Parts: sequence; structure tokens; C-alpha cells
Amino acid sequence: MLDLLLPPRCGGCRRVGAWLCDLCRARIRRLDEPLCRRCGVELPSARRDCGCRARLRSLARLRSAVAYEGPVEPAVQRFKYEGWQRLAAPLAQLIGERLAIEGLAGRWVIAVPLHPERLRQRGYNQAELLARDLRQRMRLSSPKGELVRTRPTPPQVGRDRLRRFENVSGAFAWRGGRLAGESILLVDDVATTGATLDACANALRAAGSGPVTGVSIARVNV
Ligand SMILES: [Zn+2]
Ligand SMILES: [Zn+2]
Repeated sequence: MLDLLLPPRCGGCRRVGAWLCDLCRARIRRLDEPLCRRCGVELPSARRDCGCRARLRSLARLRSAVAYEGPVEPAVQRFKYEGWQRLAAPLAQLIGERLAIEGLAGRWVIAVPLHPERLRQRGYNQAELLARDLRQRMRLSSPKGELVRTRPTPPQVGRDRLRRFENVSGAFAWRGGRLAGESILLVDDVATTGATLDACANALRAAGSGPVTGVSIARVNV
């Protein structure tokens, strides 16, 4: 939590000078085409989608900026678990670059929420920090209301694809006014199957939103 007082130190390699140094930036691997048009995963050959249509029912699409490997892995870990909140800016920048390349935007930017208990332990919601930076960067705002986690969900790590979807199904709700058909960018740190983002999108769609685009810094391939 002390990162605001310290000189910048690279989230990838701990070198002093910047929150993400030039050497680490150069080692970050952007996702390569062809990508699944729907969920943004890298495909071995050009196909329209990877078969995710049956799983991702509520998300219009999902886009991750980079692969979860190299310097991105320690940077995301420090950002999420070690209080390096200042990494929000360089990491959100990666998302912003991906959205710009694809010409994607939305009316509103909303973050995947933490359960209140986890938020209390951690002190901040890393996805909200990313969302805040993206709103500034893209001059977007958020609607009146709040996306909430209605029950704690055990971590997704180590679960197979089906279990991940079951684990988070119905775990989110929109508390606020109707979302009036507006398009939404839904932000999380790392995406794997997209199950969490899809469960959030389900709650937003139920509240009347337009298409929901899930975005994340990094993508883990399972
Ligand atoms: Zn570095
Ligand atoms: Zn797909």
C-alpha cells in the first residue's frame, strides 16, 4: 500500500525508474492474429470463432491485450496481490492500445467487482483501478449504480472450464437504474475462459444494457 510514496519500480523486473520499464515493455507479447472474433483467443488457423459461442452467452465479445507470460505475469501479481496500485496506468494502457487497434469502445466502463469481504482484505479492487484509468484515457464515464458480487465465489484457479462457469453463474447483480441499451466495456485483470466476465455481462444485460465487451490486460490459455 506504500507504492505512492516510493520511487517507481518496474512491476516486471523491479528495476527502479518506471512502473513498467522499457526492457519489460519490449518483452511483452501482444496476442497474434488470427484471434477468435468472439472471445479474442489466439487460434492456430483463421476461423471465425473457436467454439466459444455456446459458453459465452451474454458477452458480445472479449478482448485481451497481451499474453499472460513474461514480465506481465509478475506485474499482474504485484498489481493484484502486493499493493502495486500504480501499475494500473501502464497495464490499462495495454488495454487501451488493443481497443484502439480494433476500434472498440463503449458508452460506459464498468469493472468486475470483488466480493466486499475480499475488497476489505485487499483494500482496493484492481479491476476498478483499471476501469478508472480507461475512463480517463477514453473520456468515458460509468452509469449510476453498481455491479455487485452477490455471493463469494471460490477462486477460479485450478477449475476446469465447465466448473468455472458453474462457479460464477448468478453471482453478480446490477444495483441501479436500467441501463438503457447502452454499450459497455467490462474490465477485469486477467481472462481465462471468460466465465466471470460472462456472468457479469449476464447481470448487465438483465438490467437492460446494450452489448457488453469484456476487456482484460492478459489472456491465459486453457
Ligand atoms: Zn522491467
Ligand atoms: Zn472464442
